[in-house]
Amino acid sequence: MECEVCNLPAVVSTNNGTLCGEHFKERFESITLETIKKYKLIKRGETVAVANSGGKDSLSLLYIISKYFRKSNKIISITIDEGIKGYRDKTMEIMKEYCKRYGVDYKIYSYKDFTGKTMDDITGVRKGIPCSACGVLRRYLINYAASEVKADKVATAHNMDDEAENVVMNLVQNDLEKMIRLGAYSGIVKDGGFVPRIKPFLFLSEKETMLFSILNGINAIHTPCPYAGFGFRGLISRKIKQFETEFKGSKRNIIESMLKIKESTDTKKGIKINRCIHCGFPSINEVCEACKLRMELQN
Ligand code: SF4
Ligand SMILES: [Zn+2]
Ligand SMILES: [Zn+2]
Repeated sequence: MECEVCNLPAVVSTNNGTLCGEHFKERFESITLETIKKYKLIKRGETVAVANSGGKDSLSLLYIISKYFRKSNKIISITIDEGIKGYRDKTMEIMKEYCKRYGVDYKIYSYKDFTGKTMDDITGVRKGIPCSACGVLRRYLINYAASEVKADKVATAHNMDDEAENVVMNLVQNDLEKMIRLGAYSGIVKDGGFVPRIKPFLFLSEKETMLFSILNGINAIHTPCPYAGFGFRGLISRKIKQFETEFKGSKRNIIESMLKIKESTDTKKGIKINRCIHCGFPSINEVCEACKLRMELQN
């Protein structure tokens, strides 16, 4: 297998090409930059918060954003510490090391500060799938952190696999409203309390982000969270991988279909945003999901 650009031995063959290491890195960066340009994700002068878990995907994102935007934009790394022993404590050390290397300031926000409990405590006292509570708290704290650092955008390293899972989960749950909030830019509801989220890796797969991090010497740990793989998302993820193996291009098609539905839908219709009576952040209900969970945990 030869690189389609230079004929050297290829290291990867995906929908984005059969390429050697150098040309793969080049293609990966150019797809990221094209996504940023096409969806107008980052404008000159904006403050961009990069949601940085210290994992391979977010470190690769921080690398590219600091490489191409550090002169024109203010970049800040924000990390949410769920409080998962043996997992997040390790990735936080890596996150700090890479922020230093790329010259980016970082801030850390924890579940413990917000709810009084770590994720490990929460799984001990709360029934149900850990990821449901974790997802509510992480989404909330990322928005909270981005608002606090006065970011115009918050960039997350969601890749094609993550987004395809989100699309299928929303379809199975018949939640079209949530589905049309996905995509490279999610900030359809204009509200001062929401910092728009951007996903520059939307058209790159998990396999590609993994390879990009390895080829750039990013030594992230590749072990998953101990609570990963349970429940609904784990099942959907396995099914999508099976689809992709049997019908190449399935993941991309799932995302393209969602984008077409989003384009042809009046995304502002029917969404009424209130403010949470406890924290003041935007919420569909009187009390936001994160405050509901916090009160449940504090009782
Ligand atoms: S796998 Fe689940 S519990 Fe672990 S960090 Fe992700 S959402 Fe949280
Ligand atoms: Zn090449
Ligand atoms: Zn609230």
